[in-house]
Amino acid sequence: MKVVLLGTGGPRPDPHRMATTTLIRLGDENILFDAGRGVMVQAAKAGVPLHAINPVFITHHHFDHIGDLYDVMLNTWLHGRKDALRIFGPPDTGRLVNTLLTQVYDKDITWRDKGEPTFGGWKPVIAEDIIAGPVLDTGRWKVSAEFVRHGDGLGMPPAFLKRWTCLGYRFEAEGKVIAISGDTVPCEGLMRLAHNADLLVQCCFLATPEIDNEHFRRLAEHTLACGDTVGKLATAAGVKRLALTHHRPRIGSDMLRALRADVEADFFGEIIMGEDLMEIEV
Ligand SMILES: [Zn+2]
Repeated sequence: MKVVLLGTGGPRPDPHRMATTTLIRLGDENILFDAGRGVMVQAAKAGVPLHAINPVFITHHHFDHIGDLYDVMLNTWLHGRKDALRIFGPPDTGRLVNTLLTQVYDKDITWRDKGEPTFGGWKPVIAEDIIAGPVLDTGRWKVSAEFVRHGDGLGMPPAFLKRWTCLGYRFEAEGKVIAISGDTVPCEGLMRLAHNADLLVQCCFLATPEIDNEHFRRLAEHTLACGDTVGKLATAAGVKRLALTHHRPRIGSDMLRALRADVEADFFGEIIMGEDLMEIEV
């Protein structure tokens, strides 16, 4: 099977990176993790048959991870999707999907369903809210989720945090394990999902020299893993290969080299510096 890094950037527009979104290709199946900026354009560039993207696993509800979810729902249909599109994600995913379908794109869908019926009319989308635990087992592959920590220590109101669930995913097929960290700092959930993984696709936002003010120190501690912790967590989890994603926009490659040096100091397996449209055989 093959992992395609469709996007390796974050919320800020980056001429070189779309938002962090990862695709697993297994035979004729295309399993999507997140749906950030540019997902369908990138999938087209990668030569993925767009109708065959299904299901989708959402890690959390930041816009760099769900911003183009509408595009996945509509363009899989416009390219001939026959079955219902299944979308799994943290609590409120069903509400978000329903809002897009019934409040934002309802006229567009009606147009293409009734006026110019695309592939015989609308094909449904089924969203399911999930928490940590087994999510799906098709017999050919299975996915489980873990809670991860993305912003828990920032002092947000408890009522907000009750509604803020972030997930990472563990994908198993052909005797191999691919772990998708989601956005997180090191935490127990991440260690479990990455345990002995053949490949960990890991958010890794800043090189140590970039953590140069209080804002970034807080970010590295509570929001996104950075070069100071990623190698250590990968080693502790027994990960075999590490693909680094969720990069900030950078000018030049000095800080990418610094980031690799950071991680190399703590992790002795293969380190893949993620770039958009990179394909990784597993
Ligand atoms: Zn993000």
